[in-house]
Amino acid sequence: MSHSFTPPFTAQRPLRVAVIGSGPSGVYAAEALIKQTALPTEVDVFDRLPTPYGLVRYGVAPDHLTIKSVTKGFEKTLSDPRVRFLGNVEFGKDLTHDDLKAHYDAIMYTVGASGDRRLGIPGEDLSGSMSATEFVAWYNGHPDAAAREMVLSATGVAVVGVGNVALDVSRILLKTVAELQASDIAPHALEVLEDSPVKDVWILGRRSAAQAKFTTKELREFGELSDADPVVKPAEVAVDEVAEAAITDNVVRKNLEVIRDFAGRTPEGKPRRIHLRFLVSPVEILGDENGNVSGLKIERNTLDASGNAVGTGETEVLPVQMVLRSVGYRGVALPGVPFDEKLGIIPNVEGRVEGRTGEYTSGWIKRGPSGVIGTNRKDSTDTVAHLLADADALPPVAKASRADIDALLQERGVDVYTFADWQALDTHEQAQGQAQGRPRAKVVHKHEMLGHRQK
Ligand code: NAP
Repeated sequence: MSHSFTPPFTAQRPLRVAVIGSGPSGVYAAEALIKQTALPTEVDVFDRLPTPYGLVRYGVAPDHLTIKSVTKGFEKTLSDPRVRFLGNVEFGKDLTHDDLKAHYDAIMYTVGASGDRRLGIPGEDLSGSMSATEFVAWYNGHPDAAAREMVLSATGVAVVGVGNVALDVSRILLKTVAELQASDIAPHALEVLEDSPVKDVWILGRRSAAQAKFTTKELREFGELSDADPVVKPAEVAVDEVAEAAITDNVVRKNLEVIRDFAGRTPEGKPRRIHLRFLVSPVEILGDENGNVSGLKIERNTLDASGNAVGTGETEVLPVQMVLRSVGYRGVALPGVPFDEKLGIIPNVEGRVEGRTGEYTSGWIKRGPSGVIGTNRKDSTDTVAHLLADADALPPVAKASRADIDALLQERGVDVYTFADWQALDTHEQAQGQAQGRPRAKVVHKHEMLGHRQK
């Protein structure tokens, strides 16, 4: 049986969707909504920051510029006449859930996962211990972290976790100024890293190298750094023949190849070292009398039959003054929106928010913090398909027009930053960067961003 829409929506009264968050999942949702032609649709994409693109601007490593080229497509979507970008509008503060219900046929939450997970070990709150999320936000020039004073006096740094974020933060700590110049790292971070005393970075995996979450391309970069040698203890990455034969995952195989290549290398005597350690767990962050990190106690692990790490009681102390926990992001609850505290996501069934009509979700706040940017395209397309299938049954909305929502925002004195405003800022940042031989020099303070507007 073929499925056909009998939409109540028309070109005069299109389906109106509010997308909360302009990161990859939000922009892919907008793209999916305007790609279909069965239903005339208008999309307003909100972001609490003046700048669009969320994780692509503030999460992706500054030296991974090719990953950021997805913004070319995002630009096309946000410039489409059916789509508007309304930056500097905070959900729950400038606009509440009830405001949106009164103005849109459907709401799509695509706010990602801006929080982070903790280790739950003593010493986690010492000065010099922080989440990778905080460190990433700082070097990427996130406005919330821009004012943070980052003192980088550590010669040794431990990075806990073996996902791609752990590799990102370690690589940024180890690159030379010349290498960082080619990135779009925030100017304040470049200045601090220029004087960085870091000599040794330890990346710590609690399980075996075969269970690391990072990907091979990212791992290989450690073999190509101009100032840092990779160091791996051969015994820690030994895999017996039976276990080796059982590996079917190609990424794992390739990861092991690279790690073994590192283990077999004689260090070239570069001034910095990246130590990849496995089967070790942090048990305590040690502090000095001033409350600063002075070491990290780690415990050697073995694996149980299910592949989980089990402590052996054998410990050692790493000489580090900074500890970055990179053990995963976590979603943060939105006011007036259901939230699963345990999973850190909006409870949903295939993107339909549980217990709600006309409310949807996609991306990390829907499924948790996993996958690459492209994963969110399918995720958003899937949710949008459900939204469109429900369209006939969506409850009537009293004030469903652009003029109505604009009037409300104006009445509240919200200083909306448009896509054209962002484009003016974008041009400015690129010009500033190019003047310094860099791809971009980010503006990091919100008040400064708001000063750059479409002429
Ligand atoms: P992730 O890939 O989930 O890695 C988290 C790591 O933390 C795992 O190694 C995990 O080990 C470890 N961990 C968790 N709890 C721990 C604990 N208590 N003690 C020690 N280790 C612990 O997370 P992520 O690195 O934050 O990355 C998030 C997503 O973004 C991933 O899908 C990633 O691929 C993606 N990403 C991609 C790129 C890229 O493509 N270049 C860059 C950055 C991020 P277990 O396995 O033992 O739990």
